[in-house]
This record gives sequence, C-alpha cells and structure tokens, in this order.
Amino acid sequence: MNEGGATPESALRLAVIRREIAESCAECGRPAADVTLVAVSKTFPAEDIVPTLEAGQRVFGENRVQEAGHKWPGLRERYPDAELHLIGPLQSNKAREAVALFDVIHTVDRPKIAAALAEEMARQDRRPRLFVQINTGAEPQKAGVLPEEADAFIAVCRDIHRLEIGGLMCIPPAEDVPDPHFALLAEIAARNGLSGLSMGMSADFSAAIRQGATHVRIGSAIFGHRPSQKEA
Ligand SMILES: *Cc1c(COP(=O)(O)O)cnc(C)c1O
Repeated sequence: MNEGGATPESALRLAVIRREIAESCAECGRPAADVTLVAVSKTFPAEDIVPTLEAGQRVFGENRVQEAGHKWPGLRERYPDAELHLIGPLQSNKAREAVALFDVIHTVDRPKIAAALAEEMARQDRRPRLFVQINTGAEPQKAGVLPEEADAFIAVCRDIHRLEIGGLMCIPPAEDVPDPHFALLAEIAARNGLSGLSMGMSADFSAAIRQGATHVRIGSAIFGHRPSQKEA
C-alpha cells in the first residue's frame, strides 16, 4: 500500500487503536475477537476512509443516512465486504433507505421506528442487525429509550414487531464518568437476554471494554478532528 510514500496518518492511528483494544481486552481476560471496532467515518469524505480500508478495516459507522448514501455505495464497489453501521438517530421516513444501506442499526428507540423497520425489512427481505439505544443519562436532548422503559420497549420490538434485537447502545453524558452508564447498559442487556453492547468511543473505550462492550465506536482517535457537526 502507498509504496514509497508515508503511511497515512489514519492508518497509523488505526493500528494504535487496534493495539489498545487488544490490551484492554487482555487486561480483563477477554479475547480481543469479542470486541468489534466500528470506525466512525462520519463527516469524512471517501478519500479519507480509503486508507483505513486499505489497512484492513471493514466495519464503519455513519450517523446520517443521507451522507452514508452518498459515500458508501462507491466505496462498497471497491470493498464489497465493508460492513456499515448506523449510529445516529433514525427518522421513520428514512427507514427504507436505512434498511437498504446498513448492516447494523444501533439506534432503534421508539415504536414508530420499530414498526417502520419491521415493515421495510419484510418488504426488502433484508435483515440488518438491530440495537436498541438507551438514554442512560436520561438527557432530554438525547435520543434513546429511558432506562426504566427499556424492558417494555424491547418487549414491544420483539412481541409486536417480531424484530430480533441483538443488543443495546448508549452514549453517556459527556460530563459524567462513563463507567456507571456502561454498567447500567450491561445490566439492562443481561436481564433481557441480549449479548450485544455498543458502548465506548475515542475517550472511553477501555472502560467500556472492561464493562463488557462488544462494539466500540471510535471516530476522532482514528480519523482526527471533525469539523463541527450537530450531534445527537
Ligand atoms: C461521533 C460518534 C462516535 C465517535 O465519537 P469519537 O469521540 O470521535 O470517537 C461514537 N458514537 C456515536 C453515536 C457518534 O455519533
């Protein structure tokens, strides 16, 4: 790759993050294969993503359906085994596009979305893996189901909409120590028989791995500083 030239910064940072994930796993006696690195490429153009694909990264996260729809079909022609995760809020009028584009959706958080996804999954005969987002900090501006409503919502997804739920996702409040939020997510998952835990970002993935994360979503530590973007 890139013979004679310098290895791109993002590929170097990716290698560092991979090693840190493996070390965090080793520290708590978990196999490194238990933790999937979701490289969050939101806001970065395709040419910034290519070096990480060339370095072997295959799992990516995007937070906007429309942006992903512009960037990824072209990248997937070149890297057909790339796996795409939606980590941002989903509107029900985007369910069709989301089901067509994404392999995993981390942000199922209300009955209307569950219904729209169920309908589209049947219509397209595509089954992206689904995570329910929990608003562990009960922040009014943040997406996700409140912790005390989680069990009932998961039951609605399963029993009313016949959706298979693979796990839970959270984004702890920026000002909090994240560990109790990760522990709460793990507890809700365990009592609902869910194995997937999407938690941990650039600043706190080691703590998330200690609390059982199966998917860490890491953006800036790989791709660098993002131009500011409204985040949910
Ligand atoms: C942007 C984003 C991330 C990645 O955040 P970094 O701090 O850049 O690693 C992870 N999860 C979600 C939901 C995001 O929107």
